[in-house]
Amino acid sequence: MKEIIFASHNKGKIVEIKQILSPLGIRVLSAEDMELPDVEETGLTFEENAALKALTIAKLKKVPCLADDSGLCVDVLDGRPGVYSARYAPNRDFNKAMEMLLKEIKETGKDNRKAHFSCVIVLGFEDGSYKAFEGRVDGIICQEPRGSNGFGFDPVFVPEGYDKTFAELGSEIKNKISHRGRALQKFEAFLKKEGL
Ligand code: IMP
Repeated sequence: MKEIIFASHNKGKIVEIKQILSPLGIRVLSAEDMELPDVEETGLTFEENAALKALTIAKLKKVPCLADDSGLCVDVLDGRPGVYSARYAPNRDFNKAMEMLLKEIKETGKDNRKAHFSCVIVLGFEDGSYKAFEGRVDGIICQEPRGSNGFGFDPVFVPEGYDKTFAELGSEIKNKISHRGRALQKFEAFLKKEGL
């Protein structure tokens, strides 16, 4: 596989997918490069939403298409914001989202800071079939945002085994251990196994 469409308008995700797939010789065309429509995320799970995005575009463009759905699941909030992570704050304002999240956790009165990021990457085909790859990274939510790399909730998420946030650790470490990095490692193994 030399070229693939990645059905996302999220600049942070596009950068990460390109960083991870370009060393494999795969050129990633993003939703913006291809002027793709925004697909509404009406599913209740990461896999449903990722499949919806990948299959809509694969059928439209008649080529295999990759899409991901991901989010932050906080234990003390019963797994929220989860699939609603992107829509958690008004206007997809990441700073506002972190502020709201820290406030919500504080208001529970519990000191459990455990959380994880989940990601499902789907490779969709124009005949409606697809293959899903799942990745997860466990960690904790820190008290205040720290660091300026990455996107979304990166400044408040400290992955297990580290004392820095994803936004402080930077892309090289994040891409190796993140939910998206892990899902893409499975995607890469699939391509090798299938000889694609
Ligand atoms: P969606 O997959 O486009 O629905 O958006 C996922 C949302 O989850 C993002 O807008 C972020 O709020 C959050 N998210 C997913 N992955 C990451 C990540 O790697 N770092 C920080 N936030 C993330």
